[in-house]
Amino acid sequence: MQLLSTVGYPRIGAQRELKKWVESYFNGKLSKEELLQKAAEIRKQHWSLQAEKGVYFIPSNDFSFYDTFLDTAFLLNVIPDSYRRLGLDDLGTYFAMAKGYQDAQNDAKALPMKKWFNTNYHYMVPMISDSTKFMLNSRKPFAEYVEALGLGIKTKPVLIGPFTFLKLSKINHGTKTYRDYIEDILPVYEQILNEFNELKADYLQVDEPILVTDLTAEDIEIFQFMYKKLLSKKKNVKILLQTYFGDVRDVYEKLISLDFDALGLDFVEGPRNLELIKQYGFPKDKVLFVGVVNGKNIWKNHYSDTLKKLDFIAGSIEKNRIVLNTSCSLLHVPYTVKNETQLAEKYKIHFAFAEEKLDELMELAELFHEQAFEQNERYIRNQRIIKEKLENKEYWYEDVRKEISSLTESDFQRMPSFAERIKLQKNALNLPLLPTTTIGSFPQTSEIRELRKQYKNQGISHEQYQETIKQKITELIQLQEKIGLDVLVHGEFERNDMVEYFGENLAGFLFTRNAWVQSYGTRCVKPPIIFGDVRRNKAITVDYIDYAQSLTSKPIKGMLTGPVTILNWSFPREDLCLENIAYQIALAIKAEVMDLEAKGIKIIQIDEAALREKLPLRKKDWYDEYLCWAIKAFRLVHASVKPHTQIHTHMCYSEFEDIIKEIDDMDADVITFEAARSDLSIIDVLNANHFRTEVGPGVYDIHSPRVPGKEEIEEILMKMIHKLDLKKLWVNPDCGLKTRGMEETVPSLQHMVAAAKDLRKKL
Ligand code: GLN
Ligand code: ZN
Repeated sequence: MQLLSTVGYPRIGAQRELKKWVESYFNGKLSKEELLQKAAEIRKQHWSLQAEKGVYFIPSNDFSFYDTFLDTAFLLNVIPDSYRRLGLDDLGTYFAMAKGYQDAQNDAKALPMKKWFNTNYHYMVPMISDSTKFMLNSRKPFAEYVEALGLGIKTKPVLIGPFTFLKLSKINHGTKTYRDYIEDILPVYEQILNEFNELKADYLQVDEPILVTDLTAEDIEIFQFMYKKLLSKKKNVKILLQTYFGDVRDVYEKLISLDFDALGLDFVEGPRNLELIKQYGFPKDKVLFVGVVNGKNIWKNHYSDTLKKLDFIAGSIEKNRIVLNTSCSLLHVPYTVKNETQLAEKYKIHFAFAEEKLDELMELAELFHEQAFEQNERYIRNQRIIKEKLENKEYWYEDVRKEISSLTESDFQRMPSFAERIKLQKNALNLPLLPTTTIGSFPQTSEIRELRKQYKNQGISHEQYQETIKQKITELIQLQEKIGLDVLVHGEFERNDMVEYFGENLAGFLFTRNAWVQSYGTRCVKPPIIFGDVRRNKAITVDYIDYAQSLTSKPIKGMLTGPVTILNWSFPREDLCLENIAYQIALAIKAEVMDLEAKGIKIIQIDEAALREKLPLRKKDWYDEYLCWAIKAFRLVHASVKPHTQIHTHMCYSEFEDIIKEIDDMDADVITFEAARSDLSIIDVLNANHFRTEVGPGVYDIHSPRVPGKEEIEEILMKMIHKLDLKKLWVNPDCGLKTRGMEETVPSLQHMVAAAKDLRKKL
């Protein structure tokens, strides 16, 4: 029988239990002891389930209270002094790094956060400086291994490898690079190896996902150096070098020549791995963990395709050295289809979430070993389901398909040019210098969440619901006027999530009840599923935005989510190419833009928070595989508006040096984006590239409850003014405020507005 493995399992809980417990702990409603005990219960559930499903290589240490990258920093003692100085206990220090810490005497910002490769997961970026002393600082990986042993389950502990750790950390030291910390970090990994050796672990999974990105000759040399050294100290515990999210073309030859016991490769996102095996062979002394069950999508595995891949691999490696694996951690998919009791069977049969993927592993293993698998009932059923989806016309909209096939270049080109229309807009809007605004959402109180829930469960009528939302909008408009903001928003109270909300109002999407996926820390998202063709059958936001505008003479910024973000934060179908799906969504959002404009809305923000999300990991594929259609999809949405209608967009990351030209090329009039968490490095990038679009780099970080002072914001603005065109600068927070409380939001915005007003006087 085949041995099965998973790279990692979701940890947030099928009902988001862990999220709720951690948040209760933050609020002082759960003690540390209770939290630790509950965490142990959930780990037990996950291990037991995997054992029950026949997984042999069950991961441990894939659990985390916040983020496994942060766990690794903590484990290696990469803890900046600013957190250590707080004098908190271990868990307190850990959470201070995760989300910042503020009390009467202290004010520590959270560590920066970054997108985890091409996923919607975010990891905390460790800060390495000269005062960093690498040493073993936590017992977590060992304790979890022993804990599982106590339950009769021998796990495969999982660690972020030293190379990826250093490469993804921020080196806070002028001249040093990650290379300068190799000698510091390796002894700690050696010690970890030794300890697992003493604990008699069989296998250790060392994750080095950075290997699927473009590596320089120096990187490769360093990688080799590190592992030669580390593996020379290896004892009985075997080492599985695990990669995911792509292929390892730059290092495959090196990997097979190093003393690893097993290699884990992704054959879903890294089809080129197949060629590498064929071309360079695979050594007889190693085991191959083949990632064939997609850890990132929710669709049923295509057994025939997968079996073809497996067969191909078996051409180079005996079957008993092949372990069937997930392509990456199942962290990126929801728990189980079983919890979707509201979803009709005809849809559900097409899906496989984490738990079902365990079944797929088992079934694939069975088929892989069968001569006549084509006659196997499981195989036949799988074939039938996939074929059904492909051929069912129920979800085709011929009108949408026709519209897309008749698009021409002019549908993607806004007229007149930016330079001309921005003048018209300035006249029409008559805003002060340094106009202040927000990104869209305002704090979502439990009352609002309760209201939406009631409405969803038909506890209240549509009229009652609308009435209450409008009441909230009224209050918010008053509040914003009182604070003195220049461009107001309606607050997005009707939206549970910026993507889900649009999905719910567009044909072609499906919704789940419990399909939550961790995005960062305790934050989860529930991506909608793009099941069929997308079409807007009715106006979505127009009512509320129009209502908001009726309450004020200040401009209301209509708030929409862009096509690329809707696509990237959904689970897209697999039977239509992404480009086509993006254009379908773009046409739907465009209809919304045109309706808002017709109602007299002068500013429309089309959020593209997730534009970067699906950027291929290797730069040379960026344009051809992605940007060529992603930018066009955005342009399609707004190309037809009048010159004086101002189009804003928003992006949730600060790193866009590498795609800055393309972002300018989206041809929006104003763009706001995250900046505060990355030392405002964006300013230099904008400056150096003569960025044309007007900009609002976030002046404070909304991911933490910390309230920025007025002077602090003024200082930040001064830095911006120093390098950017004053006339093109907007003043706004980093991102939407929905996850914040009113207690911190109001003073923060007051300080922001006060800072802008002060500066206007001074300039
Ligand atoms: N308009 C959205 C909001 O304010 C944008 C959110 C985002 O960028 N993630 O919530
Ligand atoms: Zn954002």
